[in-house]
Amino acid sequence: MKLPSPHWRRTATHAMSVALAGGALTQTFLGAPASVIELGTLCAGLLLGPTLVKNCAWFGPVKKRFTTDTREVWLTIDDGPNPEQTPYVLDVLGRHQVKATFFVIGKHVQRHPELARRILAEGHALQNHTYQHLERSFWAAGPRVAHSEIELCSRAIADITGAVVTQFRAPVGFANSFVHAAAATNNLTMIGWSATGCDGITHRPIQVADRIETALHPGSIVLLHDSKLPKMRAADRASTLELVLARLAAAGYACALPQDTALG
Ligand SMILES: [Zn+2]
Repeated sequence: MKLPSPHWRRTATHAMSVALAGGALTQTFLGAPASVIELGTLCAGLLLGPTLVKNCAWFGPVKKRFTTDTREVWLTIDDGPNPEQTPYVLDVLGRHQVKATFFVIGKHVQRHPELARRILAEGHALQNHTYQHLERSFWAAGPRVAHSEIELCSRAIADITGAVVTQFRAPVGFANSFVHAAAATNNLTMIGWSATGCDGITHRPIQVADRIETALHPGSIVLLHDSKLPKMRAADRASTLELVLARLAAAGYACALPQDTALG
């Protein structure tokens, strides 16, 4: 018989622990042992369910837009730096004189320090997107993993560029209570998004631009990626970005890096 992976064993254990704790609390306060399993399961659902909703603010605030009086949006680019995509993305941003925030993966920053430094040198912002980007398991991270993934990424960025990060975006936008607590301990504001073309999954530039355009409002946080997907050619991300910037301009939107006060 094939045993479940360590990840699923950990997740199941976590769920059962939450269920039993919920049941025990219910029994203590309501004196209803017959419904312990049902209510325990309900408690588990209330705790685990929101961790699987992207940008869910159940466990703490997640910024999905910023305050602005003008027709502007915030461009955010996740999962880099990547040597086959990021330099071309930076070239496009430079040509259009657009500034963006790069939510980077700590181990990629260590692997490509020159790209992290270039991002900053060209006036963009570098922020925290965890050290390893555990997209399949981070939603179930315990306190130790949540803290180390966030702390190690902040440290990698600081060691290599000197920048002090102030913002955090969870992989896939999934964040449980331990992730929120770890972000708060590291003085990081949780950042989500409000306009995405789902370009982290497939490379379909027109579909990506269409989806983003449909979701645009003043103060929108736009999500793009500069990672490399399978079968993707060098600079493919840059051509998607060109298309998105053209749509933004046609709709009368400028790109801006919001002040911390606009996120309050
Ligand atoms: Zn990501």
